[in-house]
Amino acid sequence: MGAGASLAMSGIDMALWDIRGKAAGWPLYRLLGGGRRPIPAYAGGVALGYQEPAALLDEMAPHLAAGYRAVKLRVGDTVAADIARMEATRKAHPDVEILTDANIGYTIEDVRRVMPAMDALGIGWLEEPFPAYDHHLYRQAAGYGRTPLAAGENHFTRYEFNRVLEDGVIRIWQGDLSKSGGITECLRIAAMGSAFKIPFHPHSSMTGVNQAASIHLLAAIDNGGYFEADISTANKFRDEMCSTPWAIRPDGTVLPNEAPGIGVEVDEDWLRAHPAIEGPGYV
Ligand SMILES: [Mg+2]
Repeated sequence: MGAGASLAMSGIDMALWDIRGKAAGWPLYRLLGGGRRPIPAYAGGVALGYQEPAALLDEMAPHLAAGYRAVKLRVGDTVAADIARMEATRKAHPDVEILTDANIGYTIEDVRRVMPAMDALGIGWLEEPFPAYDHHLYRQAAGYGRTPLAAGENHFTRYEFNRVLEDGVIRIWQGDLSKSGGITECLRIAAMGSAFKIPFHPHSSMTGVNQAASIHLLAAIDNGGYFEADISTANKFRDEMCSTPWAIRPDGTVLPNEAPGIGVEVDEDWLRAHPAIEGPGYV
């Protein structure tokens, strides 16, 4: 059971849940025992270009105006530049929740130096400072401060989350419905975390199908956290591959779709026109 098998299983599982919902005439959240409740969303993908603080605040402004009450900044640049962006964001927006994602770009020494600033600024989490297999580094980093460590988009099936649970240092789980084994497997992973009061904030890029499915799951689990709203300017898998998957509401929340199944229609002509290609295309 490697990552490739887990990704393939995830897609098949998601398709089967969609078929089941369409056969029953029920939206996915209802099939999963959930309710149509508002799910808080964060604006993900801000500062992807490691821009200067002023430009970052400009980039953030329309999203905060649209309703978002939480943003996720990319870190993993120099520690000094990361801290400057976080400080500028905190100063401009004292009430906005600031989350961070290093995309495995930190060394253990970077974390030792950045963690006091994250603690002082009240950062909500530090996501993926290291690759998933660096268990010992996560353990060491957890001793450097209070900001919780987050990970999960590169953990596959409940058997890898089992190790995370036993280690007890990653306290924010971010399994991905399209990677970690599907809707069925993410329900199991979320339930494992629920018994330990570990919140589940699914990683949800890149596709609109995955994003819509993630909202359904969040509406059906008892330890659900944020919906990761992909606010990148160009994402054809969100904007062209399927019908509109979700919409941000003025209070910074999203609602699961009401249409049967996942509630989005895939454009199969578009898929045929965009076949799989070889190469490192997945982010
Ligand atoms: Mg991430």
